[in-house]
Amino acid sequence: MASSTGTKSASQLTPAMRQYQDAKQSHSDAILFFRMGDFYEMFYEDALTASRILEITLTSRSKDSAGNPIPMCGVPHHASAAYINKLVKRGYRVAICEQISVTQQVGKQSTSKTPLPRKVVRVVTPGTLTDVDYLDAKEKTFIASLYVQSGNQPQADKKGADKEVLYGISLVDLSTGEFTASEFTGDSGRQSILDELSILAPKEIIQSDGFAITEHLPELSSLQTQFTKIDARLFNGDHAHSLLCEHLQIASLYGSSLHGHPAAISACGALVHYLANTQKVELNHLRNISFQMHVDHVMIDSTTFRHLEILSSTDGDKKRSLLAELDSTSTPMGARLLRSWLQRPLNKKELIQNRLDAVEELAFLTMERLKLKDVLSSVHDLERLTARIVLGSAGPRDLVALSRSIRMIPKIREILKECKSPLLISLLAELDELKDVLETIERTLVDEPPLSIRDGGAIRGGFNRELDDCRSLTSNAKDSISAMETEEKKRTGISSLKIRYNRVFGYFIEVSKKNLHLVPDDYHRKQTIANGERFITPELKEHENKALTAEERSLELESILFENLKTTTSRESTRIQQSARAIAALDVLRSLSDVATTLNYTKPYIHEEFALDITEGRHPVVERHAPDSFVPNDVSFDENSQQLLIITGPNMGGKSTFLRQTALITLLAHIGSFVPAKHSKIPIIDKLFARVGASDSITTGQSTFMLEMQETARILKTASSRSLVLLDEIGRGTATFDGLSLAWAVAEHLATDSLARPKTMFATHYHELTDLAEAIPTIANFHVLAREWNDEIIFLRRIEPGRSDRSYGIQVARLAGLPFETLKRAKEILTGLETDELSRGARPSFADTTPNSNTQPGLFQSTPVGQQALERIRRTNLDGLTPLEALTLLAEIKDEITDAD
Ligand code: ADP
Repeated sequence: MASSTGTKSASQLTPAMRQYQDAKQSHSDAILFFRMGDFYEMFYEDALTASRILEITLTSRSKDSAGNPIPMCGVPHHASAAYINKLVKRGYRVAICEQISVTQQVGKQSTSKTPLPRKVVRVVTPGTLTDVDYLDAKEKTFIASLYVQSGNQPQADKKGADKEVLYGISLVDLSTGEFTASEFTGDSGRQSILDELSILAPKEIIQSDGFAITEHLPELSSLQTQFTKIDARLFNGDHAHSLLCEHLQIASLYGSSLHGHPAAISACGALVHYLANTQKVELNHLRNISFQMHVDHVMIDSTTFRHLEILSSTDGDKKRSLLAELDSTSTPMGARLLRSWLQRPLNKKELIQNRLDAVEELAFLTMERLKLKDVLSSVHDLERLTARIVLGSAGPRDLVALSRSIRMIPKIREILKECKSPLLISLLAELDELKDVLETIERTLVDEPPLSIRDGGAIRGGFNRELDDCRSLTSNAKDSISAMETEEKKRTGISSLKIRYNRVFGYFIEVSKKNLHLVPDDYHRKQTIANGERFITPELKEHENKALTAEERSLELESILFENLKTTTSRESTRIQQSARAIAALDVLRSLSDVATTLNYTKPYIHEEFALDITEGRHPVVERHAPDSFVPNDVSFDENSQQLLIITGPNMGGKSTFLRQTALITLLAHIGSFVPAKHSKIPIIDKLFARVGASDSITTGQSTFMLEMQETARILKTASSRSLVLLDEIGRGTATFDGLSLAWAVAEHLATDSLARPKTMFATHYHELTDLAEAIPTIANFHVLAREWNDEIIFLRRIEPGRSDRSYGIQVARLAGLPFETLKRAKEILTGLETDELSRGARPSFADTTPNSNTQPGLFQSTPVGQQALERIRRTNLDGLTPLEALTLLAEIKDEITDAD
């Protein structure tokens, strides 16, 4: 980067530009925001890039030795966040280089007059953007670190090495302090990594520069994320281990949940290094690493998330999602936690039962629930406030928001003090009242501090003697100045005389034109203005010195005291986070019980056997948006007679809704929520697969059919008898017989595989599949009820046992507005098909003909002569015919048809 920072030799540069070059040299991969007064300036190539992206004016600063002007642009310091955000969202890194105050201690004054030193205080990258104004309060924002360790064959070809491959992943939400790690192995591990990353959608993924992750996991290229390569040595096991021990302030990882997970340790170590290097502060809020096994929760892949519209609808609308219906949380922490609960549903009966019992208890405590909602709405985002304090970006109002929130903790306790359910009791026990933190903040800061500490007046009077002295000196000096004004008016006889202040001249005496002749000799003229003149006197300057020095020192002291407050509070971040987590959980439980009571949800019965029974189940989202009133339906699975349900019926009949509601009710039960059903008996499941509604993946260039087959392959390989599988219209994207055969084989496999017979719902248009129920006892047929009336279709939305008699496709097409002629022609073709008019090529024998040609198959099929001819052929016993008789028969039929024409 030396070339891009100009050609002047170091000795020719101004001291500030020398500082610039030093900072730029060590952050050559970032755009350097160089603080100069109230601006951040950018130079050279950074200025060219930034001015283009930020649409700000490009200027120049002096000239380099070759006589070329140095490109430069700048943004005001107070508005920098928006500019930084814009650059980072475009994938750039921004290094922020600040002027550093040299006075570090209370009681020691700054005396140095040399230019302030500067240093890079933070590097903002896509995964480390923590400015709350640019984050969604209800969503976490992750940076991930991925490490792939392939045993003794680091670069071995993938097939041979897969069994040994270990995938380590760690995820940090810097804005809340969440820090998790996981480790996976082999093929299924590879898929889990892909799922984890596509569900949590990290903004940035760091990886070793020695390993081409996107080559080994090409699917990742479809993620909207920034890949950052860092030195491979940072992932080295020993290095990562000792760095983590140092960060966690422990001697060894032996007692930690990370122990025995080398790939996860490497991923975590490298991530901590990266964050420390970019944030350049003690990462106090990242001291709690939670190692998660993917067996700890129900496995749901990203396709299932999308198809079930859990976090947003398939077209990206967050308001039409399960999350939106469920979210009645009062705090951002609660909203984020609810989202995580949906992303990681529980798979342990006891844990689920605990949540359900807590929701039930709160559902009965109407008054307490209301009070709790009220109190929680006064709790600020404790997690993000803590992160800002740790990362150094918090202002005085953030600390006051923290203290006000802490004040709510005893109230929460009080409201819930009678609660009996074990989870509520343990959450209340986890609520640390943080009295010391509260006391320190309240003792240090005034109740309504200014936005920035630089505005002055944030520190409470009486907190620090020196500050109090400075403040009284300032106010004494100001009093003396106003006394002097009265005095001077009297002495000079100029009643309009004013002592004023501005940043350029400091204090001065202002006299209007008409009184200038009264100005005494000891006034020194400083400036002429339109209406008069400005003067100073030695006495005024003396007062000014006192006032300004004391004021400057006050501000300096306030800033030091505030930094101390942040440091002290930051040390307690683990405790604050613990309370924040408990509050978040209470908020989610309260929200779930609110939803349960207002939307008439019931408590599911959770068990560990096979059976799943839902009586009068409803789709939680469709029931709130469907134009007609929702028709509830029952569903029931048992191992011996209803393990795989084949569901037939017309398009628009309600098949997908029925499939989805079964999955969503099961999912809700697994997060500990009540469910939209009259009764339900939900077994613990290990995996949930839903392939409902097809969608092409344009970004990966895969066709719908290809994707569908990949997803089906995955289901067949990974589903167990404890899984719930929903398949909608498998095999549609190919020729009829291909598709039917595939659908048939898939259903058969899921119903007969000796290792895994998951609870399966199989919605299909291939009515032939309903025959499977006769051959396989665990398959049962269901259909959605529809009635035809005057060639119109009426959807009853009821699911009934048995197979559907027909598809009503043409009637649905009529509803969709297909032209009358096309519908008529479709009916003709259908009649043909239904009388078995299929040629050997699995295509209708008449499909190539034009509707209006004389040889129109529909006519052939429907004219009496045509039908007679067909009937003759059908009845003929070909084995009993000689070749000559066969020829004669053919000639006769031809004559009959020709005559009819
Ligand atoms: P299919 O999968 O059979 O084509 P869908 O499940 O997509 O049909 O249902 C079509 C529409 O019918 C849905 O968008 C919804 O508005 C409505 N619907 C489905 N099921 C019900 C129901 N049980 N009660 C009321 N309306 C329903």
